[in-house]
Amino acid sequence: MNRALINIDYTNDFVHSDGKLTCGEAGQVLENDILNITKEFHDNDDFVVFAIDLHEPHDNFHPESKLFPTHNVKDTWGRELYGSIEDYYQKIKDDDNVYYLDKTRYSAFAGTNLLIKLRERNINEIHLVGVCTDICILHTAIDAYNLGFDIYVHKNGVASFDDIGHKFALNHFKNTLGANVVD
Ligand code: ZN
Repeated sequence: MNRALINIDYTNDFVHSDGKLTCGEAGQVLENDILNITKEFHDNDDFVVFAIDLHEPHDNFHPESKLFPTHNVKDTWGRELYGSIEDYYQKIKDDDNVYYLDKTRYSAFAGTNLLIKLRERNINEIHLVGVCTDICILHTAIDAYNLGFDIYVHKNGVASFDDIGHKFALNHFKNTLGANVVD
């Protein structure tokens, strides 16, 4: 186990057509690729992290409350993983190499124990899939860059509601963060 897959925010609210803050079809078409990548990492005994946005209802102190409609609220359908990813997660969730992480900011490193979990496993290489390319994936990649990780972003595993932002972020991963953007 020297690699980690960080599966970010692939939930109903961010992906499903009825989601509160959805990427819509751009997010939905990732489903099979994210499932296959997650299976590959899981079966290879790599570390599989589900880093999932968590909000309390009516949290006026949270900076996102001024920016976005309420989303990914604790114990709601909107916070469940989307489609077959939820089914697969339910199957593997008790395995030793699977870790579910509540995050409350864009970056999976902000205010979480992700760094400790990676360091204790001597993991230097992190792979990113999920949404949105230009928000939570980008902020996680920037923190990973500053912490010295080798970063892989799976092009067929990331999407955004904002096509310009998506394209900007893919270039930024490669040209500014030195990440590997892989097909
Ligand atoms: Zn949020």
